[in-house]
Amino acid sequence: MIVMKFGGTSVEDATAIERVAEIVRSRAAEDPVVVVSALAGVTDQLLAAGQAAASGDRDRALERAQVLRQRHLCTASELLPSAPFGKVKPALESSFDLLQELLTGVATLRELSPRSTDCLLSFGELVSSDIVSAALAARGLAGERVDARECLITDASHTKAAPLFDETRARLEARVRPLVERHSIPVMGGFIGATLDGIPTTIGRGGSDYSASIVGAAMEAERIEIWTDVPGMMTTDPNLCSEARLIQEISFEEAAELASFGAKVLHPATLLPAIEKNIPVYVLNSRDPAGAGTCIRAHVPRNHYPVRAIAAKRNSTIVNVAGERGEIPRGFLREVLAVFDRHECQVDIVASSQVRISLAVESGSVAPELLADLERLAEVSCEPRQAIVSVVGENLRGRQGIAASVFGSVAAAGVNVRMISQGASEITINFVIQEEDVPAAVRRLHSDLFADAKAEEDWRWLPSGVRLPQPAPATDTDESNEVNAHGPEI
Ligand code: ASP
Ligand code: MG
Repeated sequence: MIVMKFGGTSVEDATAIERVAEIVRSRAAEDPVVVVSALAGVTDQLLAAGQAAASGDRDRALERAQVLRQRHLCTASELLPSAPFGKVKPALESSFDLLQELLTGVATLRELSPRSTDCLLSFGELVSSDIVSAALAARGLAGERVDARECLITDASHTKAAPLFDETRARLEARVRPLVERHSIPVMGGFIGATLDGIPTTIGRGGSDYSASIVGAAMEAERIEIWTDVPGMMTTDPNLCSEARLIQEISFEEAAELASFGAKVLHPATLLPAIEKNIPVYVLNSRDPAGAGTCIRAHVPRNHYPVRAIAAKRNSTIVNVAGERGEIPRGFLREVLAVFDRHECQVDIVASSQVRISLAVESGSVAPELLADLERLAEVSCEPRQAIVSVVGENLRGRQGIAASVFGSVAAAGVNVRMISQGASEITINFVIQEEDVPAAVRRLHSDLFADAKAEEDWRWLPSGVRLPQPAPATDTDESNEVNAHGPEI
C-alpha cells in the first residue's frame, strides 16, 4: 500500500484533477490511499471570508463563500458526467450551506475563535476530497471518500492540533484498511482532523504533507508520494543558478538542514513520522508525472559529488555584541542568548571569541526592543543585508579538504566571508556573506562542487595544487547504488 498526496496546485481545477486521476491509475495496482489538499488558494479564501465575517461584514463573507461554491460546482461539473455529478452535487451544496451558516454565525458574534477557524478551514479539504473521489470513480477507479475527521484524531489545540497517534492508527485500521483490502481507493482530505469528541481541528498550515506522513506511518505504507508543482528538490535555487539540477536522492538529515537554511522545499519535519518508520518519501511533479522526482529517506548512499546541495538564506543581519572592558565575562553568552530567546528571535549562527559574540539572525526578527535589551548588557552593532549560504551533504562528514575547497571557491568568486560555522552534525558548512554577493558565490560554488566528476576524478574540485587521498569506496549495498552505476547521481 502506498500514500499519494496531492497539493493544492495539483488539484486546482478540472484539468489538474484529470491529471491526478491518471497518476492514480498508474499506481492503482499498488493500493494507493489518496490524501488531497484543498483546491489552490481555497484555504486562504476561507480564512479571508472568516475574517470578513468576524469584522461584521456578513455580505462580503457570504459573497466569498458563494464564489467558492461556484468554483467547486464548476470544477465538479466539468469533471463528471451528469449522473455522477448529480450524486456529488448535493454533498457539495450542503457543505456550502453549512459554510454560509457558519459565516453568518461568525458575523453575528463578530468572533472567530481558533475552534471556529478550524471548522471553517475544514471545508476546503472536505469538498476537494468529495470531488477527487467522484472524479476517480467516474474514470473507473474505485475512489471512495473517507472523512478525515473520522480518522485523524488530534488533541484540541485548534489551528495547530497535535495528532494522537494510537487513536489515529486504530481509526485508520478500522476505516481505511478494509477499503484498501478490497482494492478501493480511499480519498481523504489532508490538514484536517477532529478531537476525540468529533470537533474539527487542523494540524497547521501546509499540513497535508504531515497528514500524508501520519497516514503512511500509521498504515506502514511502502512509500509516500508528495505530488506538487515542482520537479523535486534541486541542488540549488534554479533562479540563482541555471545549472541547478534535480536531486534524485537526499537523506532526511540533509533535507532538514536545507529547509532550515532557506531552501524552499518540502519541510521535512512534517515527514518525521514516516522517516521514523523508514518509509521513503518522494517529491514528484504532477505536471510531469514521468519525471524522476526526489526521494527523501533516512539513509542514502554517498554520491560522487562532495555535497548534496547549496542553499542561500537572504535577509539576515549580523548582530555583534562586544563585552565591556574588552572581555566577555562568564555566563555572558547565556545572557545574550536569553535576550534573543525572550524576544522570540531565532539565532541561526553564533560565533564567539573572548571579546565579541556575533549572531546571524533573520533581519525581520531584530526588534528595537531586543536591541535595547542587549545594549543593557554590552555594546551592540548590526550589519544588515547579509545572507547565510549553506553547503550541505553527508559527504562533508569526516572528509578532509572540503572546507578548503568551499572557501577556495568563494574566494575565487571574489566574495568576502563574514562568519563561518560548521554544524555539530558535520553535514553542513554555513557562512555569512553580503546579500549582494549571493549570486556570484552560489554560482561559483555550484560549478566547482558539481563539476561533472567521474568516480576516478572524484576530488578534482579541490583548489589547484591540493590533492587528497581517494575516499574509501562507499560500503552501502543499498539497491540504489545501481542508480549511481548508470551515471552521475546527484
Ligand atoms: N490547505 C491547507 C493550506 O493551504 C493545507 C495544505 O494544503 O497542505 O495550508
Ligand atoms: Mg501545501
